[in-house]
Amino acid sequence: MVSEKVQSKSVCVIGAGPSGLVGARELRKEGHNVVVLEQSHDIGGQWLYDPKVEGEDPLGKNTFLKVHSSVYASLRLISPREIMGFTDFPFVTRKGRDSRRFPGHKEVFLYLDDFCEWFGLRDMIRFNTRVEYVGMVDHAKLGKDLRWIVRSRDLKSDKVVEEVFDAVVVATGHYSYPKLPSIKGMDTWRRKQMHSHIYRVPELFQNEVVVVVGNSLSGADISVELVDVAKEVHLSAKSLDITEGLSKVISKHENLHLRPQIDSLSEDGRVLFVDGSSVIADTLIYCTGYRYSFPFLDTKGMVVVDDGRVGPLFEHTFPPSLGPALSFIGIPQKIIGFPFFESQAKWIAQLLSGKRSLPSWHEMMQSIKELYHSKEEAGVPKHHTHVIAGDFETYRDVWEDGDEEILEVAYQSPHFTQFGLHTE
Ligand SMILES: Cc1cc2nc3c(=O)[nH]c(=O)nc-3n(C[C@H](O)[C@H](O)[C@H](O)COP(=O)(O)OP(=O)(O)OC[C@H]3O[C@@H](n4cnc5c(N)ncnc54)[C@H](O)[C@@H]3O)c2cc1C
Repeated sequence: MVSEKVQSKSVCVIGAGPSGLVGARELRKEGHNVVVLEQSHDIGGQWLYDPKVEGEDPLGKNTFLKVHSSVYASLRLISPREIMGFTDFPFVTRKGRDSRRFPGHKEVFLYLDDFCEWFGLRDMIRFNTRVEYVGMVDHAKLGKDLRWIVRSRDLKSDKVVEEVFDAVVVATGHYSYPKLPSIKGMDTWRRKQMHSHIYRVPELFQNEVVVVVGNSLSGADISVELVDVAKEVHLSAKSLDITEGLSKVISKHENLHLRPQIDSLSEDGRVLFVDGSSVIADTLIYCTGYRYSFPFLDTKGMVVVDDGRVGPLFEHTFPPSLGPALSFIGIPQKIIGFPFFESQAKWIAQLLSGKRSLPSWHEMMQSIKELYHSKEEAGVPKHHTHVIAGDFETYRDVWEDGDEEILEVAYQSPHFTQFGLHTE
C-alpha cells in the first residue's frame, strides 16, 4: 500500500556495519532524523578487521563480546564483487587497491568507507557507543504511541546515556556470538579450546596438533592454512561425505586428516572420534557457526531467539506486534547481503514515513505461520528458518516496481551490448 503523506521520525539504528549504514542512508533519504550507535571505533562491522583478540573469552561466552568481527587475516570474499555492492554504488575496482574479483576483507572495508564518504554518513554515527538496553517507553500503551528507550554506554568515558526514539532498527549482525557443540569432557579439557570467532592467523599454531571442528567455509579455510605451520591438522566433520574440492585438498597434504565427529575429550588431551580413532591434540578450534544474540533487547517476550529462529518476524524484518517501530536488518542467511539489506532499509524507511503500511497483525502472523509450516514440511530444521529460499510457485512471475528500469540499465552494459545484438 502506498500513500503520499510523509512523516518524519526519530530513529536509532544500532550498528554501523553494512546493514546499519545502508539503513541510515535510506532513513535519512526518506526524511527521518537518524542516529547510529556503534560500539566500535569505526564503521564496517565484520569488515573492520580486529587483530586484537587477547581480551576475548576464547569460546565467546560473554554477554557482550569484546571483539565483534570474526574475520581472519587471509579471508577473501565468497562471492564476486560485481554482485556485492549496493544498487547505486557498485563495488568497482580502484587504482592501487585489491582489484581481484574475490578481494580480501580490507577491500570490502574500503568499499564501505567510500560509501560513507560518498553519501556523507559519518556525521550520523556515534562511535565507541555500545547499546546496552532497548525497551518500550510505556508497555501499557502498546500500539498507541509506541516509543523506545535506548540506553547506551560511551566506552571511552564509561558514561551512560538514555534517549527516547520513535523507532529502533537493529542492525547488529549475527556472525559474532559462537554457537558451540556440546561434547562430553569439553568443560574439563585442560588444553587450548577456542572458537573461530577469535582465529586470526595460523602462526600461533606452529608445530601443534590441531583439531578443527566443522568443515563449512571457515573450517575448511582455516584447516588449509594451518597445514603449513601445524604438525597435524584433523578436520572433524559431521559427515564424511565431503565436497570434491575439499577431498582434493585433503589428499594433497600429508598432515591434513579427515575425521568423523568427536565422541569425547579426555583430561590428558586425547580427542576420541566416534569411529574409535583418537589423537592427542594441543588445540581445538570450533568452526561451528554463530548464533543470533540481542543482549540489549527487551521486548517483553514479543521477539525471542529460539534455536536459531528469531521470531516472530514478518518477512524476517518486523515483529507483527511492534513493527514498524522495531525492525531488524540483516537477519536472513545465504543471501547476497548488501542489496538485500538495502531493500529492507527502503521498506523500513517508507513504512516509518507512512508512505507504505504493513498488512494487519493477523495477516503477518498468518504469513509467519505459513513460513514455519512450509519449512517443517520440507524437513528444514528450526535453525535454518532465516535461510532464504525462493517461492517455488511464483518466482517466475514476480515483477517488482522498478525492475523494468534495472533491466534497462543492465541491457546497456557491455555484457549485453558487446556483440552488437539488438535487445528490446
Ligand atoms: C568469516 C566471515 C566471512 C564472511 N564472508 C562473507 C562474504 O564473503 N560475503 C558476504 O556478503 N558476507 C560475508 N560475511 C557476512 C557478513 O557478516 C556480512 O557481509 C555483513 O557484514 C553483515 O552486515 P551487518 O551490518 O548486518 O552486520 P555486521 O557487519 O556484523 O555489523 C554489525 C555492527 O553492529 C555493531 N554492534 C553490535 N552490537 C552492538 C551494540 N550492542 N551496540 C552498538 N553497536 C553494536 C557491531 O560493532 C558492528 O559494527 C562473512 C562473515 C564472516 C564472519
